Amino acid sequence: MPHDSDAPRARGLAELDQLYALIDRLGNDAWVEQLAVVEHRELRLPILAVMIGAREPTAPTFALVGGVHGLERIGTQVILAYLTTLTSLLQWDGMLRAGLTRCRIALLPMVNPVGIALQRRANGNGVDLMRNAPCVGGFATPLVGGHRWSPRLPWFRGSAEGPMEVETLALCEFVRRWVSCASASVLVDVHSGFGLVDRLWFPWARTRRPIPQLAEILALANLVDATLPNHVYRIEPQASSYTALGDVWDHLYDEQRRLREDQPFLPFTLELGSWMWIKKNPRQLMRQLGWFDPVRPHRLQRTLRRHLALFDVLQRASAAPEAWSGHDAPTRAAMTRAAFARWYGS
Ligand SMILES: [Zn+2]
Repeated sequence: MPHDSDAPRARGLAELDQLYALIDRLGNDAWVEQLAVVEHRELRLPILAVMIGAREPTAPTFALVGGVHGLERIGTQVILAYLTTLTSLLQWDGMLRAGLTRCRIALLPMVNPVGIALQRRANGNGVDLMRNAPCVGGFATPLVGGHRWSPRLPWFRGSAEGPMEVETLALCEFVRRWVSCASASVLVDVHSGFGLVDRLWFPWARTRRPIPQLAEILALANLVDATLPNHVYRIEPQASSYTALGDVWDHLYDEQRRLREDQPFLPFTLELGSWMWIKKNPRQLMRQLGWFDPVRPHRLQRTLRRHLALFDVLQRASAAPEAWSGHDAPTRAAMTRAAFARWYGS
């Protein structure tokens, strides 16, 4: 895997230009990995990861992933806004700098740069990267939950044979190298395009059955509720909205349970409630990205600052796993029952 932040830089994609500028400002405070280069017709774009803090694989880690779906540029922009804040804090905040000697922040802001450049959900091959992972069992909400009929239709899962797409492989590699190897990790994958409120979804996507770590999810949700009492997020299982096959987070979560059950890895999907932007500004539906991204400048600014507090709390929580994991068996059983009542009771 190349450690190559000095590779020739692709230009012309605003978010990529912004990322390179932040990398330059970060200097030795971060290290950069070029996970892959994606080629599509005349395009040749890198998938870049930026890591800050401790390099030990087991260091507790907070991770952000964005730009899986090319139409949802706002996810990438929200992560770049967080990275901008971090870049500035690292100039003067000794407390943050000291904390990062024993924990890590890992960011993959743009998983699907070709999709972003082409303004399409899928990658260059027409594959929906969030339906592209191997999947055993489960059931999909028709069409939207993934299919193998044709790359001309959205939500195409790719070929059942053959490897995953380059972008999906890069995402999995990033998670294994810098996130799920940690003694504890919390990850947020930022999307948009569904619903009127901002949702924080936890796995699984393929089934309405609860995951084994409901107690940890509830503890983390309670911690967010107590620390950010006026937050806007609806924390719930993804499958309560729809089910999907080939979800990468299902794949990586299951892998973690198989290989490192004692190292909690909680991947969330932050689904920004973009229908609210449309409700307030129906004319934005006339624009191609209007379904997925805020168009008016004040709404964009509000979205870019809205999630910084959540990311800050989850970063601190990832570095304090005793606050939400490691409970004794009776406590854990009671929490699992409470979580079941909260999310699966009806
Ligand atoms: Zn999405």
